[in-house]
Amino acid sequence: MLRAGVVAVQGDVSEHAAAIRRAGAAHDEEVDVTKIRQSGSVADCDVLLLPGGESTAISRLLAREGIDTEIKNHVEAGKPVLATCAGLIVASRDANDDRVETLDLLDATVNRNAFGRQVDSFEAPLDVTSFDEPFPAVFIRAPVIDEVGDGVEVLAEWDGRPVAVRDGPIVGTAFHPELTADSRIHDLAFFEERAVEV
Ligand code: GLN
Repeated sequence: MLRAGVVAVQGDVSEHAAAIRRAGAAHDEEVDVTKIRQSGSVADCDVLLLPGGESTAISRLLAREGIDTEIKNHVEAGKPVLATCAGLIVASRDANDDRVETLDLLDATVNRNAFGRQVDSFEAPLDVTSFDEPFPAVFIRAPVIDEVGDGVEVLAEWDGRPVAVRDGPIVGTAFHPELTADSRIHDLAFFEERAVEV
């Protein structure tokens, strides 16, 4: 049984819960999903999901509830995290926006809404390292990843920019992998490399 926490202070939560359950089922692994709205339950989770939404609101609520420190402890313990869209912004080292208090868990700098300036949202077939077929990536007011540190592996690029990255236990995506029936990104983050012993 894998215990997954979906950070649910704001943003899309139920789609992520469904996606990680689907990915688990493909590995005969039952997934127990907890929605995290206040401090006290992160330590019980094997893996965490940091969903999209509005990064200013998410970072403020994480700090207010004291969940920010718990997420940092989770990553320090080497436990997996999947951070998507606004979740990626919050997890990054710097978001180029003072209103977002980043957690500095993923060695990357991002630019909020950078794709969104040209086009609000779009879907693109994305070549992801280790995937045989392109992944249908849904971008919604997506951030651009400007710079990544030496230890960061770029898993996918769009328009010459990284849009999926791995930094140790964290996988971050600029797009929303929970919005299609394809759960390969959740698989890659949590199951494929048996990143977590349960
Ligand atoms: N642009 C949003 C932000 O800055 C993120 C959008 C999303 O998560 N779909 O928080």
